[in-house]
Amino acid sequence: MHIMKATAMILFFALLAGCGMGKKGEAPLYTENRAPLRANPFIELPLGAIRPEGWLREMLLRQKTGATGHLDELYPAVMGPRNGWLGGDGDQWERGPYWIDGLLPLAWILEDDTLKAKVQPWIEWALQSRQPDGYFGPSTDYPPEKGLQRNNSRDWWPKMVMLKILKQYYQATADTRVIDHLTAYFRYQLENLPKTPLGHWTFWGEFRAADNLMVVYWLYNVTGEPFLLELATLLQQQAFDFTSAFLAGDHLSTPGSLHCVNLAQGFKLPLLVYQQYPDEKYPQATRKGFSDLRQHFGQPYGLYGGDEALHSADPNQGSELCSAVEMMFSLETMLAITGDIHYADHLEKIAFNALPAQVSDDFLQRQYFQQANQVMITRQMRNFDVNHDGTDVCFGLLTGYPCCTSNMHQGWPKFTQNLFYATPDRGVAALVYAPAMVRLKVAGGKEILIREETNYPFEEKITFHLEWHGDSGSLRFPFRLRIPEWCAHPNLLVNGEETEVAPVDGLVTLNRHWHDGDRIELTLPMDITLSTWHENSRAVERGPLVYALKVEAGKRMVTNTKDPETYGTEYEEYLPLSPWNYGLTESEVANPAGKMQVTAKIQDNYPWTTNNAPVEIRARGIRIPSWQLYNGSAGPLPWSNMYKMELGDLPEEEEITLIPYGCTTLRITEFPVIRGR
Ligand SMILES: [Zn+2]
Repeated sequence: MHIMKATAMILFFALLAGCGMGKKGEAPLYTENRAPLRANPFIELPLGAIRPEGWLREMLLRQKTGATGHLDELYPAVMGPRNGWLGGDGDQWERGPYWIDGLLPLAWILEDDTLKAKVQPWIEWALQSRQPDGYFGPSTDYPPEKGLQRNNSRDWWPKMVMLKILKQYYQATADTRVIDHLTAYFRYQLENLPKTPLGHWTFWGEFRAADNLMVVYWLYNVTGEPFLLELATLLQQQAFDFTSAFLAGDHLSTPGSLHCVNLAQGFKLPLLVYQQYPDEKYPQATRKGFSDLRQHFGQPYGLYGGDEALHSADPNQGSELCSAVEMMFSLETMLAITGDIHYADHLEKIAFNALPAQVSDDFLQRQYFQQANQVMITRQMRNFDVNHDGTDVCFGLLTGYPCCTSNMHQGWPKFTQNLFYATPDRGVAALVYAPAMVRLKVAGGKEILIREETNYPFEEKITFHLEWHGDSGSLRFPFRLRIPEWCAHPNLLVNGEETEVAPVDGLVTLNRHWHDGDRIELTLPMDITLSTWHENSRAVERGPLVYALKVEAGKRMVTNTKDPETYGTEYEEYLPLSPWNYGLTESEVANPAGKMQVTAKIQDNYPWTTNNAPVEIRARGIRIPSWQLYNGSAGPLPWSNMYKMELGDLPEEEEITLIPYGCTTLRITEFPVIRGR
């Protein structure tokens, strides 16, 4: 073959591959990465394709009746008609878009017209605010007013949140105005970023550029316009270099080096860039970043001591609610790009532990910071990097700082949206587990329904029912399932028949002819394990759940007459009514499976509260008299295993009850270990 012709042929096939054309020349079922972007192993489904069931549906319904569905009424000063993103002279910055970034997926996942009607004015104003040069959003600064952010209206950062919103709106509605609007704005960015770079107004834009970049790539996959890749490269050049920071910097071993939420958002940047520049340094940087973060700042619930700057691994350190929901979103993004199931394990750790613990049962109150060892929730100054007049751990709508009030809504809806993915080989993948159902196209384009029946993470068994209508023949497509790293002996039945589980990189692929009515039963046995944390302490884990000491908590409503305009008119405090200063015995730490007892009692559709805890672990604890309250928190964690502690004046051991971390309000999660007992 002539060399020119060969080159042309290679180019042709490369283009074909880039367009996602299958071997048989079939058009892709869902929008995939377009060449030269690297092909991703998992592809997100349209918004609304995945519906929650069971406890997850109850969670989303509580968001609807709670703050997500009513923030305009609960927080009118910011979310009412004066908001700059509705054309008003009020708040011009991130909070309005934050709320809609969670309200929009909730509205479309629940198919709720009332919620959709609350979203629509924000979409319409964002679209019609477009100026001839492509700029959109608020553009007028106003003088300071208490409780509002009225300056930096032209800052790049808050628009990044609106970009995520518009992408989701298009995925839900296919409204083509979004495509024109984003194309015009990205041309504006390419023109103007050299003159007014990401950090021109505030430093947030440099640290959070990943959110901007991911929408640029998404639009490129839709339209294929080459200038978008030019803009992507420019954004990378102006963004904070998380790749170098993780690989060569000392940020993740240095207290105070990074803002906790910037870090959570920035974690996805290296792997987003990896799609355009497939250099192995990007996945390496991410893995090293997580490893260093765990070592120096790690907390058992999947996050890190950052209150607000990175602080320490001490279980009294705070973790901001925004860190939880933003890290979840980053992990969801990273999972689809790499297929690395560690990110799915990590995502479940945060979703099933950190997130439910930090928000009240009615989804009306939340903590700005949570603590792993949280034994008293009162308004007082604690040893945090940032103290908001002592309100950071109190449950309220506005205690701490209102970014979390506005941003917490995206957690569960986006988690729901990432339970299933399409795959480039026209199959389906279930990588994160919860009760749900999904409608998607597989094989030659046939739409099927998969119902995922389970009480996971509170039970070990997950059943998938495959259903479709019309032609009764079989469909051949691959069904991929994640085997979590914590699960040593998974069991798999297809239509009742035992099937070999031979995971490759944590994934089982069932590639076969499927029939309407087929059933897959996956059982993931959960053993009790102990992980090691600050001062050599231990946390009790079982499957994706962390178990913490159940501490009886006395609630006290506080009417705030001191500074209601800043922290709200009321908030909740909790005082411990039962002892918390327990250590675990050395003998049970050596043999947790033999010494600790698990009891399960699923009794309500809302599991995330102390009285409904579906699983309990009975263990043996010994109170440590010298470990007492200090300044509203547990005093310094005693070292494990302290020499001759057993010879001190220790009381007898007693039975203690551990419940899922996500069900607790007050708790001990990191336990000292008592030598010789
Ligand atoms: Zn926040």
